[in-house]
Amino acid sequence: MRVIVLGCATSTGVPIIGCTCPVCTSENPKNKRTRCSLYVETQGKNILIDTSTDLRFQALRHSITKLDAVLYTHSHADHTHGIDELRTYNFMNNMVIPCFGNTQTLANIENNFKYIFDGVRSAGGKPKLELNIINGEFGIGDASVIPVEIYHADWLIYGYRIGNMAYLTDCSGIPSESMDKLQGLELLIISALRYRPHEAHLNVEEAVMTVGELNPRLTVLTHMGHELEYDKLKSELPDGIVPAYDGMEVELNEP
Ligand SMILES: [Zn+2]
Ligand SMILES: [Zn+2]
Ligand SMILES: [Zn+2]
Repeated sequence: MRVIVLGCATSTGVPIIGCTCPVCTSENPKNKRTRCSLYVETQGKNILIDTSTDLRFQALRHSITKLDAVLYTHSHADHTHGIDELRTYNFMNNMVIPCFGNTQTLANIENNFKYIFDGVRSAGGKPKLELNIINGEFGIGDASVIPVEIYHADWLIYGYRIGNMAYLTDCSGIPSESMDKLQGLELLIISALRYRPHEAHLNVEEAVMTVGELNPRLTVLTHMGHELEYDKLKSELPDGIVPAYDGMEVELNEP
């Protein structure tokens, strides 16, 4: 099982347009973050989690030429605005792309991108997507996927567990039933926006506390803003927790 952090930024990306702070002007490539998304290869299937604003660039950077499914965490712009790039996979893979998410997420996507779903033929072409509401464990071929409900402010959105890897982005809290689904992880990827608290996102301290309750073998922090400098954050984190960087790859045994 191969996991690639395609992007690990919060919604603005880092650098932020026009910002002259030390992180936004840093020469360290690990401080240059595109919008948050994950790519997973498992059981012969290629799975994308979210279609970030930067999907085209990310897919080119990693030569991703086949997608079997897209899992949506939620419908915020930074996680969905690359949706039109799925057209390329329709052509290249000669298939309709199955997309999965909860009821609210898929309803918002249908509403926000009406042109895709209005049934009107368009000369410019549009993505061919099949929306599938999921509310429990399901399969993509032989790969088993467990949606895990987490809070994002007052929304309940999905994180996903695939084998012994879980991806929880835009998390502000985890209900106890969901904590039960996150036991025995080899890899946890969880969001940590900044040092200061935020209504809709865990900060670094809260993310580290959550990790302490779950005890995965390795934890990677993602969805990071421009307050977080890669080397500084890395030196501050406890053993077993590291910040993500764009293009970070982790190999795991197949479940
Ligand atoms: Zn986000
Ligand atoms: Zn900045
Ligand atoms: Zn969000």
